[in-house]
Amino acid sequence: MPNARTHDAAGVWMAIPATAVGYWWAGYAGVSLFCGGHLLTTFLLSPDLDHTAGSYAYRRWWCLRWIWYPYCRLVAHGSWLSHWPLIGTAFRVAYLVGIVAALATLAWLGCLLLQQTGVGVSTAWYDWRPVVSWSRAYRSEARVLLGGLEFGAAVHYVLDWATTNVD
Ligand SMILES: [Zn+2]
Repeated sequence: MPNARTHDAAGVWMAIPATAVGYWWAGYAGVSLFCGGHLLTTFLLSPDLDHTAGSYAYRRWWCLRWIWYPYCRLVAHGSWLSHWPLIGTAFRVAYLVGIVAALATLAWLGCLLLQQTGVGVSTAWYDWRPVVSWSRAYRSEARVLLGGLEFGAAVHYVLDWATTNVD
């Protein structure tokens, strides 16, 4: 498999076709979403988040890299959960959404405990309805963004497969 620098370089070069695909799919408005999704996968949501040692993406999360530590431990490097088309991207996005939801729920429970002790903290912020209605309202934009995320992952997979199968 190629190293992280090679994946980064390929991701930057493939931003050119990603721009073209984004324009073809969703016009000017879709270019930034599709290309942004592609670059997001290249630099932050790389399939290689499944191993800490050689992953630039893991280090780029800086003080939040602990978020990906369980993912690194649970998912074997190069496995179908991280390196299969559609499944890899879906799993990484679901994992990240799950972590954010779990942290928000823990914070909400902490606020409830504080309220029980008489501390005046609000729990009004723990409301998923705006998130659900926002995701419904921007469904087509979310599809374009997810398409860009998958495009970036596909660039990664092709490079992995091409270099693994060449002696
Ligand atoms: Zn890989």
